[in-house]
Amino acid sequence: MELITHFIQNQPVESVDGSVFPDVNPFSGQSWASVALADAADVERAVTAARRAFDDGPWPRMSPDERGSHLTALADLIDRHADDLARLDTTDMGKPLAQARGKDVPRAAHNFRFFADYARGVEDESIPTDIDHHIYTRYEPAGVVAAIAPWNFPLMLETWKIAPALAFGDTVVLKPAEQSPASAVRLAELAVDAGFPPGVLNVIQGFGPGSAGEALTSSSGVDLVTFTGESNTGRAILAACAPTLKRVSFEMGGKGANLVFADADLDRAVTWSLRAAFTNAGQVCLAGSRVFVERTVCDEFLARFVAQAEAMKLGDPMDETTEIGPLSSEEHFEKVTSYLRVASDEGAKLLIGGVADDLFVRPTVLTNVEPAMRVCREEIFGPVVTVQPFDSEADAVGMANDSPYGLNAMVFTESLRRAHRVAARLRAGTVWVNCFFVRDLRAPFGGYGDSGIGREGGRFSREFFTEAKAVVIEV
Ligand code: NAD
Repeated sequence: MELITHFIQNQPVESVDGSVFPDVNPFSGQSWASVALADAADVERAVTAARRAFDDGPWPRMSPDERGSHLTALADLIDRHADDLARLDTTDMGKPLAQARGKDVPRAAHNFRFFADYARGVEDESIPTDIDHHIYTRYEPAGVVAAIAPWNFPLMLETWKIAPALAFGDTVVLKPAEQSPASAVRLAELAVDAGFPPGVLNVIQGFGPGSAGEALTSSSGVDLVTFTGESNTGRAILAACAPTLKRVSFEMGGKGANLVFADADLDRAVTWSLRAAFTNAGQVCLAGSRVFVERTVCDEFLARFVAQAEAMKLGDPMDETTEIGPLSSEEHFEKVTSYLRVASDEGAKLLIGGVADDLFVRPTVLTNVEPAMRVCREEIFGPVVTVQPFDSEADAVGMANDSPYGLNAMVFTESLRRAHRVAARLRAGTVWVNCFFVRDLRAPFGGYGDSGIGREGGRFSREFFTEAKAVVIEV
């Protein structure tokens, strides 16, 4: 059976004690590879390699232009190996291949191109002062970055962290999610082909608590932690980072509100609401999982939404026509389906959907729900949405904001004044009006409340991944 290794100092490496764990394909239910399982000693090898590359190696000392040429070369290699990389993510976590190849992998390449260009083009400030002094700012590489990633968009989210860290001169130890270890190692191999010096990009495999993740976040050799995952995991990581006072950037859970007003273009609202609800089988932090529809159009919206949701094709994620694959693992399937039982216990109505087959859940719509119900408050992270009617703009905004999360929201309206007014009142890191998932990597990305700490993207990433230094010269 294939062995998925760690990757340290530009080499594939096994664990010191030879430990492995199985990599299970959720569609076949079979273990298709063994994965090296790190303990603290393996993590320290990776951190030491990254530390040495940062303290003594060429990477932080290169010009942004030189680093950028390596990043661009890596982007070109990602494009060339798109099919291979997409198949690894699909095999690992069951997302439709068409999505992995059509969206995730191109975005991974774009992450590198964007930050290569951004770091080349950005300028430091000179601060106007009196004639005897000259003051300017330097944005210096900040150190060794631990990048801890989830399984829902493996390569895309790993590169969203690695690309800015590398562009601004840091070195990286990446820990992919235990459910999706494969594409990260392939990426690290491609980085060698792109001419990255040893130790600049390292990968360590394993679990979170008591395993690779915890060892990485506790290591004194790590300066910064960028993490994407569940809010409760963020709490544990924050505690692990406290003794060594690491800088953190967290992108965490969501329970996106989707507000459909009576003056919306309903065709457009239904199209985007479906994508927001069911892309990647709803395993999306940005999922529009709480739909609020103005009462006068609620029946019409629901009729169209339900008809299109029921027509979505479930099946083998390697089949190009599949729209919804299996959930990512048996454990996650148990979690999502437990919420269907909670919904029933709470008195919600299962309008459509439910369990389909082994690890498959159909697009599911719950109505007759109240804001206090667990299915309206907790992140289900599957193809399950709640739909509630509202009577006024104030009610809609109030219900949308009544959540511990605040990652994103959507507003469907043809009124420009309403669009701006509601966008300003929503407690969410991103508000999409009449669209969903349109991203520009210069824009801030992150969440309010339990959804995040800090922002990444463009200048926000530069602030996180660098140390800003003031130089004051008396002339
Ligand atoms: P998770 O929190 O279970 O795991 C994420 C990563 O953290 C994995 O690599 C895991 O091994 C590691 N980890 C777990 N416990 C750890 C610990 N104690 N110390 C160090 N590392 C630890 O999340 P998941 O199930 O992989 O992903 C789903 C979650 O991610 C959802 O909540 C989703 O909303 C969130 N997410 C957020 C965004 C965003 O941009 N805000 C994007 C994607 C996913």
